[in-house]
Amino acid sequence: MLGVTKNMLADLHIHTTFSDGIYTPAEIIKMAKKAKIRVLAVTDHDNTEAFPSALKAVEEFYPELRLIQGVEIDTFYGKYTVHVLGYYFDSTNPELQEKLAWTREGRKRRIATMVDKVRAHGYDITLEEVQKEAHGSTSIGRPHIARVMVNKGFFPTTQAVFDELIAKGRPCYCEQEKLTPKEAVDLIHKAGGIAVLAHPSEVGDTKVVNQLLDEVPFDGMEIWHPSATASDMTSSWLQLAKKRNLKTSGGSDFHGDPKRFPAVLGGFPIDYDNVAAIVEWKS
Ligand code: AMP
Ligand code: ZN
Ligand code: FE
Ligand code: FE
Repeated sequence: MLGVTKNMLADLHIHTTFSDGIYTPAEIIKMAKKAKIRVLAVTDHDNTEAFPSALKAVEEFYPELRLIQGVEIDTFYGKYTVHVLGYYFDSTNPELQEKLAWTREGRKRRIATMVDKVRAHGYDITLEEVQKEAHGSTSIGRPHIARVMVNKGFFPTTQAVFDELIAKGRPCYCEQEKLTPKEAVDLIHKAGGIAVLAHPSEVGDTKVVNQLLDEVPFDGMEIWHPSATASDMTSSWLQLAKKRNLKTSGGSDFHGDPKRFPAVLGGFPIDYDNVAAIVEWKS
């Protein structure tokens, strides 16, 4: 059990500079130590490349930490965006890496189109600036656009950029081709991992969540997440997970944006016991 005991903190959902997080894997590991998090999963969007440098930082700065390889795969379920979290898969699995690379290519094209739309709305930003903000991340995303807009003084917060321009339904939003949730879950399973439905509150419709759980062989559901209300976490989603015999998971979805909850790693504490079934799936 690697020394993990009761009354400990865990976080199974965080982002680094390998997707749209602000901090490097090494910075995240140092923050996890400060926050006394004992189990951490790195779950970049459509990218598994942060893991080796995160592991190196664990060995160097925080060897007591149990670090889990993870990923958050972006999918479409009809018109609904569904995020699929994967854990404990073999990251060298060729099919998994091929599909993640395909999704990241779609991200690049989509962000280029969105930058054109933002420019057409009168904001002078360039694709080069957005790429620079992404610091070489191969998994570019809307937060990179939002940060450039804030840095150039067009908006006070990244949230304001989303609300005005780039959230779904806003004028500069753009879709891209994505896997289906079933394809993502199958990929994770074939690579030897387990799959968790991320932040069901963000799916936006309980009926759709139920339909998804009927159709897709998820192993677990992310109950504890900043997007869920207190009653969602302690009641609705938890009851649903129990009813369907799904493992419960939780994570802060920390990106490092001080204006987005949680502002610091550890700001959304999760008891290890709540995610033990996921963590202990593999010893
Ligand atoms: P993308 O991967 O380009 O679809 O962007 C998704 C990321 O943008 C999420 O992981 C969040 O970090 C952020 N995000 C999504 N929706 C919003 C929103 N309404 N307000 C602020 N940030 C958001
Ligand atoms: Zn993100
Ligand atoms: Fe997500
Ligand atoms: Fe996330």
